[in-house]
Amino acid sequence: MTNFTEYKNLCIIPFVHISSKPDGRLRLCAKSPQEFSEPHLKKGFFLGRNTLNEIWNSKSLRDIRLKMLKGEKLDICSKCWKLEKVGRRSKRIKDNEKFLNKYKDRLLEAEKNHGFLSKKPVYLDLRLGNHCNLKCRTCNPLFSSLWYKELKKYEHENPLIPENVNFNTLNSMKEFKKDWYKTTVMHDMIEEISPDLELVYISGGEPFLIKEHEMFLDQFIKRGFQKNIQINLNTNLTYLNQSMLKKLSLFKKVLFMPSIDAYGKRNDWLRSPSRFSRIERNFKEILNLPENVEILLNCTLSVFNILYLDELSNWLSRVIKESKRSVRIHLDVLHQPVEQHISVLPVNLKIKAIGKIEEIIKNEEKYLFKKKDVTAICNLLQNLKEDSKKIISLREQLKKEIQVIDKWRGENFFSVFPEFVNQL
Ligand code: SF4
Repeated sequence: MTNFTEYKNLCIIPFVHISSKPDGRLRLCAKSPQEFSEPHLKKGFFLGRNTLNEIWNSKSLRDIRLKMLKGEKLDICSKCWKLEKVGRRSKRIKDNEKFLNKYKDRLLEAEKNHGFLSKKPVYLDLRLGNHCNLKCRTCNPLFSSLWYKELKKYEHENPLIPENVNFNTLNSMKEFKKDWYKTTVMHDMIEEISPDLELVYISGGEPFLIKEHEMFLDQFIKRGFQKNIQINLNTNLTYLNQSMLKKLSLFKKVLFMPSIDAYGKRNDWLRSPSRFSRIERNFKEILNLPENVEILLNCTLSVFNILYLDELSNWLSRVIKESKRSVRIHLDVLHQPVEQHISVLPVNLKIKAIGKIEEIIKNEEKYLFKKKDVTAICNLLQNLKEDSKKIISLREQLKKEIQVIDKWRGENFFSVFPEFVNQL
């Protein structure tokens, strides 16, 4: 097959990319949460334990490549398929645009050679552990050491704790090998793939707090590869590591992706124990980063913040317009934990949220969001106005979760989100 338009269900990711969870367990990509393994491995593949050779041409990865080449829609890619079904741009579509044409020779090679590839990955997802100074309500212990600490502390209250705060994750993390990324196997792998790398995605945990991230940047710079590599970096914006920022300015390009979900005290509750004054200070600072840095602000919409999108937007418009720096904003709808999805918002508040979002759409020149993004969210809310039995039970679960965690943290949801009083 040489006509590339015929590879219609294909994703370039298994041909160019390597990715792990923060505990080192290998997965296909960040949108495909399922780990992949082989029958002879009890616990699956781990970065820092298995070599690049063992992973890159493993039977399981070769099988995935061959199935994709045959046009199969794989279950492990369901997140992308679901998005595409509702007309949204999935990671598959975006990464195919970026890499498919350039690396199409890999498809032919894999097709001829039972899925084998002689060339190495060019795109690396580097998540070195879960060390983080925040325990955001929407996050979980796999991605935050502070969340892990809190859940461990209250583990004895198990029956009182709603499942959603990921006790399953906590259990699966009992064997978490904290320093998996400090092994020689990991260092050798980075050494081996760095000449071919063109994109490195750095996330965590909080990347600015994990010193090995900087160490790997040093390793790229020492060998002169920084001029070929784009770095995409997520941060919670609580701490800007100045020495790392200096090094980032040497790379071909940096996509700097801070996460801000709410303004003021609502941020402080949602992304505890961050303080909005510091987030604001650091945000203003990154607006002065050099020209090789593009800023893409990530805002994840959940039941907690959808009602306050206008508030966040007003603040952003003010700060960004003052700086004259161009900033792209990405609005994402949270899907997990499911009880925090925007569909769980009580009906009255859903109507209120729709009204506010319609205002944003009407006055688009005043706001920085893309009209098509807010319109998609408005349509989603419009279609969710009715309560189903499932939604009512998820709302109950959400209420319990808020109460329990508020008690642990000495916080009070209703005083920060007064619109929810008598609604939840
Ligand atoms: S289709 Fe989506 S989930 Fe599957 S590998 Fe590609 S980007 Fe990842």
